[in-house]
Amino acid sequence: MGEKIRLLDLNEQELQDYVKNVLQQPAFRADQIAKWLIAGADIDEMTNLSLALREKIHETAVLGGARIVKTLTSQKDDTRKFLFEMEDGQIVEGVQMSYHHGHTLCLSTQVGCRMGCAFCASTLEGLVRNLTEGEMLGQIIAVNKALGGGRQVDNLVLMGSGEPLDNYNNVVRMLRRLNDPEGLGISLRNVSLSTCGLVDQMDRFSREGLPVTLCLSLHAPNDEIRRQIMPVARAYGIKDAVAALKRYTDRTGRRAIVEYSLIRNVNDSAQCAEELAQLLRGMRVHVNVIALNPVKERSLEAPKPAQVNTFLKTLERCHISATRRRTMGEDIEGACGQLRRKNKEMLEKQ
Ligand code: SAH
Repeated sequence: MGEKIRLLDLNEQELQDYVKNVLQQPAFRADQIAKWLIAGADIDEMTNLSLALREKIHETAVLGGARIVKTLTSQKDDTRKFLFEMEDGQIVEGVQMSYHHGHTLCLSTQVGCRMGCAFCASTLEGLVRNLTEGEMLGQIIAVNKALGGGRQVDNLVLMGSGEPLDNYNNVVRMLRRLNDPEGLGISLRNVSLSTCGLVDQMDRFSREGLPVTLCLSLHAPNDEIRRQIMPVARAYGIKDAVAALKRYTDRTGRRAIVEYSLIRNVNDSAQCAEELAQLLRGMRVHVNVIALNPVKERSLEAPKPAQVNTFLKTLERCHISATRRRTMGEDIEGACGQLRRKNKEMLEKQ
């Protein structure tokens, strides 16, 4: 027989079809299996199914999710970093942050990334492969299980490794399944998707009818600086990227966020802040300013703390709403892709 079915990649209808056509079981079995999948159970743990039926599932299917193989807990703040392993052994990372209003998971959408941003560790070896929707949902399921005690992930940010809009179909399918009544119960209003600015896909995404907050990684106030640090800026001009963000908010009514990582002597001057304010003038947008989390393979440096304040103050003075995003979990390799690389290096040394 051909490839096994990946259970977590099936939506409600597809799971029903599998149960009917492959397992030749009545429809209520699909609900039973769906509940187990959401609870993070293995096939062998689906104890309201007979042994023979579980055997048949093994013969025809795999879970297709993600499992936590390493957890690092921050000593400084309520942050945990996970390494998730896929069924083919590929590893991605995720971060869980807990605040008074719930638990937020920063999720990966690809193994590696092909966008090539100069400051990011996830892209150092290019794209390995896309994650399937089941592997993305699997990260949430695994973290819910790790949280335990009925606690679950309430907010999702697609800001782990990968460019979500470069894995368009799987990401959209995953988002459509988030607020299934029988599903993970995450409201799309609590989801943020971050993109380096793939303008065509941003426009396509604005027509999906998904009330997700869109974040645009700008990191520069003009094309000249942006092209030095983000290869995507050679394909799309900065004004086009900002215009696409504006169209997104106009069409969806959702908030727009601009992300701006400050890199010393590259994009952190007060003049850059003024130019950024000019670029965003008249838009309903919020700027998240974050200090670069330096990646050891790169020569780029974090800004001086005083520079971060000056940058924020300048934006404020120009009437642009902005906040400094805390760089959480710094003691646990918080920056994108760093933990996965460290793990890989360790394994290679063994
Ligand atoms: N591909 C998506 C998601 C990437 S990660 C995107 O480009 O938006 C989420 C954010 O972290 C992006 O804004 C990304 O540019 C930023 N980032 C990546 N590496 C970083 C680092 N070392 N320090 C600070 N921000 C970083």
